[in-house]
Amino acid sequence: MKQKVFCAFCSLPQKIYTKKHVHFFELILFAGVGAILTHLIWQDFHIVGPIVFCVLAMSAETVHRLRWRASVKCKHCGFDPLLYKQSPEEAAQTVKAFLDRRKEDPLYLLKPQPQIKPIIKKVKDYKPSSVSKDIQL
Ligand SMILES: [Zn+2]
Repeated sequence: MKQKVFCAFCSLPQKIYTKKHVHFFELILFAGVGAILTHLIWQDFHIVGPIVFCVLAMSAETVHRLRWRASVKCKHCGFDPLLYKQSPEEAAQTVKAFLDRRKEDPLYLLKPQPQIKPIIKKVKDYKPSSVSKDIQL
């Protein structure tokens, strides 16, 4: 299941997966698959059934985590909020590298462009330079 969200950096809409982990019903399904498989082959309980259950559960959990992690990263600007929480400088470098690559790629020309506002720092105690004082009209 996907949810529509807006990127915190470029404000463009994107869809992310909301499901991060395997649900209980999927675990029941995997246990049923293991039980049916062992029943069809050995006609009794066999140790392969729990092994099949564990392999299916671990692979499904891995797929869910990787899919969710890949969907969190913005496809328009490359902003990764999880990386930003750990290291803002590294996230900024990642976005800059992504935008440089995107600028060169012709496939991105017709896609929606990120609406990145420039960062304007307010300087306190700003005094005009002496050059502007000397100008007289
Ligand atoms: Zn973005």
